Order: sequence, then structure tokens, then C-alpha cells
Amino acid sequence: MIIDTKTDMHVHTSRCNHAVGTMEQYVQEAIRKGLKRMVFLEHLEEEISYSYRTWLTEEDFDDYFAEGETLQKRYHDEIEILLGVEVGYNPECPQRLLTRIAGRSWDWIGLSYHFFRVPGSSNHLNLLSSSRQSLDAISRYGTAAVLSHYLDALTQAAGIIPANMLCHLDAGLSFHPDITFTQQHRSQVDQLLHTLRDRNIALEINTSGLAKRSLMFPAPWILDRARDLNITLVASSDAHAPAQVGRFFSQIDTHFNQPPFNA
Ligand SMILES: [Zn+2]
Ligand SMILES: [Zn+2]
Repeated sequence: MIIDTKTDMHVHTSRCNHAVGTMEQYVQEAIRKGLKRMVFLEHLEEEISYSYRTWLTEEDFDDYFAEGETLQKRYHDEIEILLGVEVGYNPECPQRLLTRIAGRSWDWIGLSYHFFRVPGSSNHLNLLSSSRQSLDAISRYGTAAVLSHYLDALTQAAGIIPANMLCHLDAGLSFHPDITFTQQHRSQVDQLLHTLRDRNIALEINTSGLAKRSLMFPAPWILDRARDLNITLVASSDAHAPAQVGRFFSQIDTHFNQPPFNA
């Protein structure tokens, strides 16, 4: 299986409040890098209580589609632009998420799980954050237990959300210094991968991991297992700045698109 590195399946814009750059800047960078297709994947979250909003409102999504459709026409001859969404799972309100998703016609739906509410607390923790405060809170609750919850929640989500792609599978807790995958965690990953296969959900190779931990998301042992299961793999930069579009895609070519792996 050849992984299409002329498509970037996952880029953000300043609309989420933690990325920079306009949609058009991302489009121009993608064209400059020779990409043929790109997917905007803006953050959608539901009922999350966090220090600031890192996702789009419905009004933001209105603007997003209007601007995206203008750019699709303007750059029609140079690149195919898809308008998608990165749905952050919330195990406390799957039905509300399904309603939000059903309200629009998305070109591509990515699934992730960022925000965990520690039982008994009203606020959410960002499982993908490297902040001291968040890492300490995870330690207090139990790193192994939170990782286990993260993987179970993703499996549950993959069974419920009509996703096309699972985002950065092992990014949750990846900044935690005590993180290790026990045998139990490994079998949870296996269960998640089987759900992806059964539901025909692609797995992204997210190159933001190379910038953050010198290793793609997910780690090689997970990607090997995914290939054994014939899960479709796609290339994503998870760009949060225009210059990051298509970042490190040559490494995907090197690792996956050359013999003997491309058989
Ligand atoms: Zn983001
Ligand atoms: Zn993302």
C-alpha cells in the first residue's frame, strides 16, 4: 500500500485560537510544496470546560465553509481543497456530538480525544498538553489509569462517531515522563485497531509527532500492527502554522513508500 504524500489530510487555521495563519496562507503553502490535495480539519468540541476555547463555534464554522468554498473556486486548477472537521470525543455527550456532526456536510471527519474530566471535578484536562499543571493532575489520578481510559474512550468513539480517520492515536499522555504501554494498554490498542478496521476508518500518520517527540504519531509498533490489519494509512501534518503543511512527508516516503514496504 502506497501512502499518498501529495495529500495533507489534517491542517488547522487561526480559527481554533491556538494555530496561526489564514486558510488562504495554508492553501498557498500547500501549492508551493507541490501538494495536490489538502484537508482543513478544524476542531469541534462539545461541553468542554477548559481555560480557553481551542475549538470553533457554530458561527466560526459558518465562516469556515463560506471562506473554504471561495478558496475551492479560486484555486480549483491548482489544488483540491476539502473542508473537514476534527471531532474531539466527549464520552459524556456522544449524542450531542452526533447532532453537531449531522448538521453539516463535511468532506472528511477526523476523530480524536483531547479533554478528560477527572471524576468529581468540573474542569477538563487536556490529555495532549505538555503543561506542568496538566501533567501533575494526570499523575495524581494515575498515569496508567488515564492512558487506559484514553484508549478505551477512543475505541468507544470509533464505534459511535461516523469518522473517516483516527487522529494521532498515541498522542494522549505522550508528553508524560512516566508513560509506558503495559501489556494491557497494548491489547487496548489492538482492540482500537480492530474497531478501525471493522468500521473502515483510516489511521493517520501524524508527522507533528516528529516535531514534538522525534517520532511520528502513532509509534512504529502501532503502525506495524495497523498494516498487518490492512488499515488504510494516510499522511497528516496537523499543521498549526502555514509553514508546517506537509512537514516531514519525505520521511513517510522513505519509511513506507519504498521497497520492501510498498508491496
Ligand atoms: Zn489543535
Ligand atoms: Zn489536529
